[in-house]
Amino acid sequence: MKETDELFELLSKKEKLAAMLAPSFPIAYRYPDIVGKLKRAGFTYVAEVAAGAIKTNEAVIAALKDNPQKRFITSPCASFVRFIRTKYPAMEKYLAYAAESPMVQTAKIVREKWPGYRPVFIGPCVVKKLESSQDHPDLQILVLTYKEMDEVFKRLNIYDDHNDGVSVFDIAGAETRLYPISGGLAQSSRVRELLSDDQIQVVSGWKNCEEAVKNFEANKNVRLLDILFCEGGCVNGPGIDSNLSLAERRQKIIDYWNKDLS
Ligand code: SF4
Repeated sequence: MKETDELFELLSKKEKLAAMLAPSFPIAYRYPDIVGKLKRAGFTYVAEVAAGAIKTNEAVIAALKDNPQKRFITSPCASFVRFIRTKYPAMEKYLAYAAESPMVQTAKIVREKWPGYRPVFIGPCVVKKLESSQDHPDLQILVLTYKEMDEVFKRLNIYDDHNDGVSVFDIAGAETRLYPISGGLAQSSRVRELLSDDQIQVVSGWKNCEEAVKNFEANKNVRLLDILFCEGGCVNGPGIDSNLSLAERRQKIIDYWNKDLS
């Protein structure tokens, strides 16, 4: 069954649902209007996936501190993880699997805080569907892109985008709102206080992945490769319907990060 049909069915049956909005959401939606809109659609709770990213960052820092001899490649990008598994399986040992992706970390928070609620991830990425079904089937995360969520809003006749004045994130995470921009993990995790500039490499774009992997293999000085498959990061994910340029998308994320929403 298509994820849009599955969500529509769950909403029709009034199942207990918690939406999890990926950190790139300001490109597709306005805050806090989108929270009110999701609640009108039938979600009881709405969590910001940036909250899970805080836990991802903590795990990256812990891995680097606890294993001073080891080198790591970040693993939140579902496409890059699959690229390594299929094309460079010998490099899989470097993937920092202990630092689970923000989607997975947020689903765990949701499952613990609201037992019985099904986490529904809404984001820019199609491959997150595979991360959910292949790597974390136990969490039963239903994954939709923003484009697919818009289809669901349409089927539910929810078009208006006004602020209802009361709806805000039930779980928020302010410090990691830069996550969907290339280098967002390295920038928001304070890893730069632990490693020197030449020990961190930030790469985005599928065309650059092969070279980055080869460089990581050859350059033993690099301790952390922070990598995302889409050019510029998740802000450029295929599940976003937007005419904005990459620079404009980055600016939307920076503006949201700069807002005081606490
Ligand atoms: S960079 Fe692209 S492929 Fe990777 S997680 Fe983000 S949206 Fe998905």
